[in-house]
Amino acid sequence: MKKRLIATMLVAGCWGMTFAQTKVIAHRGYWDCEGSAQNSVAALVKASEAGVFGSEFDVSVTADGIPVVNHDDDIRGHVIETSVYASIKDLTLPNGETLPTLEQYLVKGKSLPDVQLILEIKPHKQEANEDRAVKAIVELVKKHGLEKRVDYISFSMNICKELVKAAPGAPVYYLNGDVTPAELKRLGMAGLDYHYKVLQKHPQWIKEARALGLKTNSWTVNNTKTMQWLIDQNVDFITTDKPVELKRLLEQE
Ligand code: MG
Repeated sequence: MKKRLIATMLVAGCWGMTFAQTKVIAHRGYWDCEGSAQNSVAALVKASEAGVFGSEFDVSVTADGIPVVNHDDDIRGHVIETSVYASIKDLTLPNGETLPTLEQYLVKGKSLPDVQLILEIKPHKQEANEDRAVKAIVELVKKHGLEKRVDYISFSMNICKELVKAAPGAPVYYLNGDVTPAELKRLGMAGLDYHYKVLQKHPQWIKEARALGLKTNSWTVNNTKTMQWLIDQNVDFITTDKPVELKRLLEQE
């Protein structure tokens, strides 16, 4: 009788404390391995093969409106925002791939149904180009029927606001670390995606976000101790350059 009571109490206690396990997002795909490169199509495929929740990548729009996948605002000195696509399309990544368009990336992503596409829209110098980028990107996602497969992130508040308008219901996360969970909720966002130092400075934001029904993500976490701290805080996602190591750490939980 006593044993059964203890067992019941343990189960009830566990239920009361259960949180969904933290999920792994590969930062710029899984690139730190043979044949891969940051933001390459190969990095998306390798993230999927590694069995992580999501694969992150960065998107900017060319002067003639083509969204391309690249981290910096330039590729080999060609500023994407002011270059026509034809002038940069043959430039190659360190693994030999040519600069991927978002459309090529989405088509590949569609064939990898188990990996969520974490689409970062980079800030552009001209706000009008940010607005153009949002419109073109949301249209492409819709064209390929990937609305449920894409989470959007951006450092630009303008981009986040435009996304909330252009893609109602799509998860939008703000990256810049300077807005409270309550304000993000008011703006219609799905959650926050902040640098781990911001969350270490404001650990209450994780709880506040959860209480508001918002999700929490943190970047770019490559240190085991910091990963463990965030796991202990029950953040929803961790974005890392070391997805396989983080996955292993979570499997030990
Ligand atoms: Mg990024």
